[in-house]
Amino acid sequence: MKIVVLKFGGTSVGTVDRVKKVANIIVGYVKKKYKVIVVSSAMSGVTNDLVKKSKKISNNFISSEYDALVSSGEQMSCALIAGRLNHLGYKSQSWMGWQVPILTEGNHSSSRISQIDKKKINKFLKSGGIPVIAGFQGINLNKRITTLGRGGSDATAIMCAKFFKAEKCVIYTDVEGVYTTDPKTLKKAKKIKIISYEEMLEMASLGAKVMQPTSIQDARLNRINVDVKSSFKNKSGTLITKRKNIFNNKTIAGLTSTKNDAKVTLLGVKDKPGVAASVFKPLSQNYINIDMVVQTSSGNRKETDITFTIKSEDLLKTLKLIKQNKKIKFRDLIVNKNVSKVSIIGVGMITTPGVTYRMFQTLANKGINILVISTSEIKISVLIEKKFIKKAISALHKEFKLN
Ligand code: ADP
Ligand code: ASP
Ligand code: MG
Repeated sequence: MKIVVLKFGGTSVGTVDRVKKVANIIVGYVKKKYKVIVVSSAMSGVTNDLVKKSKKISNNFISSEYDALVSSGEQMSCALIAGRLNHLGYKSQSWMGWQVPILTEGNHSSSRISQIDKKKINKFLKSGGIPVIAGFQGINLNKRITTLGRGGSDATAIMCAKFFKAEKCVIYTDVEGVYTTDPKTLKKAKKIKIISYEEMLEMASLGAKVMQPTSIQDARLNRINVDVKSSFKNKSGTLITKRKNIFNNKTIAGLTSTKNDAKVTLLGVKDKPGVAASVFKPLSQNYINIDMVVQTSSGNRKETDITFTIKSEDLLKTLKLIKQNKKIKFRDLIVNKNVSKVSIIGVGMITTPGVTYRMFQTLANKGINILVISTSEIKISVLIEKKFIKKAISALHKEFKLN
């Protein structure tokens, strides 16, 4: 069987008209003799709306019911697609995660797919049917509904491609592919024809919403080539693949920025072993993700300052935990909610000297102050004031010849 997995994102199924267009795309693959497995997200805005409702009920909504709630949008879109395919004369059926079943492990709202039962889907495919599988959801060992984190339909599609040994996995979205930076932030952004898993993973983790980061980890681990393209225009998109398949690497593949970061600084904490651990232990126990960290070296060896960044939504909880923490003493606490992390990503920086200097100098030329820096082998991130994001992205895009 020549199998293809086609995933449609929220905007692609955002209206009844869009659902009709999506059905036509699916039929196009059937006519090319593919066995098609469809994965769909909820219609755009639906999941956000459900999240908002949960917040109005409780600011500490129980996670198992949160998953039952926010996964419900996918039932509507999948039934609409299957309904339209039947209308066009093609046998099709919708499948929620529990019906397949798609088994997951890990915590509610950030589960990972561990197993997909292939029996029923394979039987349906062999009988000429087109299964439409709900993205973003599965069940755990207790048979409770789980979700895979926001944007998680991408992971459902990639894991379907793995378990059904698909020849292709195509992610249909509202832009023509992966761009050098978010095309909605910078008009000069360019479509990338081919990008490595490593670069895509960094870009996704650092703010490029176009692909969910865990889905790229799954694709990389299972060596699944992923095509990202538009469901609005019939144009070639971006291929996400292994590094070996890419010949002319640019120094920098892309730039990203984040929207919801907050910076916390503890001034005058004791400069002795174990203090940093005492600061971060209660945060980790409460599942608060720490991103960038710097500790300034103390001149007198008695006191030091610790700065770290977190997601803005975790700020109140973080401040409460720090104030309650009897194990640490500090002179003052400073918070900045108007910060953003701007990153440059590229495997080419491993072999090209001077990239860090060029990034810092470009920002300096624009009068942009760097608050915190973090690096890995293939990325450099800086924290800056949020109001400078556009200016920074535009200047760096030009400096690294991406325009
Ligand atoms: P879908 O609903 O199809 O999953 P998403 O909204 O999750 O779509 O992702 C697509 C969006 O990602 C685009 O509309 C675009 O604004 C945003 N985006 C951010 N960074 C990038 C990038 N580097 N390339 C392409 N799109 C990006
Ligand atoms: N509908 C879910 C969300 O909005 C999953 C997805 O879009 O991939 O996060
Ligand atoms: Mg998405």
